[in-house]
Amino acid sequence: MQHERVDTRRVYDLHREPVDVALRGIASETAGILDRALAGKTLEFEEGLHLATTSGAELQALIRVADEVRRQDVGDTVTYVVNRNINFTNICIIGCKFCAFSTGPNDPEAYNLDLEEIGERAAEAWACGATEVCVQGGLPREWDGYQYREILRAIKARTPEMHIHAFSPMEVTYGVEKTGLPVADYLAMLRESGLGSLPGTAAEILDSEVRALLSRRKVTVEQWVDVITTAHRLGIPTTSTLMYGHVERPEHWVRQLLLLRGIQQEYGGFTEFVPLGFVHFQTDLFRKGLSRPGPTLEEHLKIHALGRIMLRGFINNVQVSWVKLGREVSQLCLLAGANDYGGTLMEENISRLAGATAGQYLSPEEFQERIREVGRTPAERSTTYQLLKVFHN
Ligand code: SF4
Repeated sequence: MQHERVDTRRVYDLHREPVDVALRGIASETAGILDRALAGKTLEFEEGLHLATTSGAELQALIRVADEVRRQDVGDTVTYVVNRNINFTNICIIGCKFCAFSTGPNDPEAYNLDLEEIGERAAEAWACGATEVCVQGGLPREWDGYQYREILRAIKARTPEMHIHAFSPMEVTYGVEKTGLPVADYLAMLRESGLGSLPGTAAEILDSEVRALLSRRKVTVEQWVDVITTAHRLGIPTTSTLMYGHVERPEHWVRQLLLLRGIQQEYGGFTEFVPLGFVHFQTDLFRKGLSRPGPTLEEHLKIHALGRIMLRGFINNVQVSWVKLGREVSQLCLLAGANDYGGTLMEENISRLAGATAGQYLSPEEFQERIREVGRTPAERSTTYQLLKVFHN
């Protein structure tokens, strides 16, 4: 069998071919697993690992089947949320080797937004049509753990109806350690102060050995799972994430997908699965030769396809991160199982409106254009995937 490379044109061609054409002529084991996925069967570890190690025509078949499963399960609409990122500080004591964002308190680049500024940014976002603020930051040493509550109150005081998607399990764990409150009480306090949902970031790879390489001081697997499942028990939805393209291996992807699937089966609180490609530039992990230089195109496509297939029947939404992947690759991932384009991240929009010339900016209109370019229908959604407006042609 010819092992044709997966390139941009091939993904577009694949998308137009009938599924059975893509399955024809590939190894019977791969075809059998993909047939089971198409029939709605729940795939197990060995099957997932087999798919995670495909290449050439078999990888193309995986991508084609993921696109078909996406079409069957969630249709041709591609959703996005109009939101603004508020990264309230870049000062952080944790020191993750893959992080190019954090800095020390005495660094000239260090910043710490005060509550008034945070509230103001939320008010600007609301005025520009945002329905969500995504609030995350570093972990400054002197924080007392109630600062997260104060941030929520500051935002709600200015924008009572804004959905606040805030604080990763790392930040929640830091708040718990600082206050001494049980996780459930801490999360309930945040919810009463306006928390709407949690980003399921800080997951990276949920494997103790990989975490020891990436960041020794990060939340443990057990702590991440505890915060997430406690949030779900309290009715606070979260996203689920996986960072790929660094030191991890295919079995880590599959184990993580099964872990997320198991949590979803029990608690049902995940809104979506978001694969996050490792951006290696300016990270210690890459500079010290400890990781590969981010994911290949094949890996980008494979993880979105695998997420769609392994999570079938459990987590319906697979998000592609346009910020990390850029226009072309993120559009290709929409043809490999993804059905959500993430957030407009108005931060740069407002900076631009304020006169800045640098920085990325994507308007809702540009989102709609990119989505239409791959033949799909754009729709604005809420954080929890309620459709707010469908933009039919
Ligand atoms: S905890 Fe977050 S901000 Fe701090 S170093 Fe790690 S990834 Fe960066």
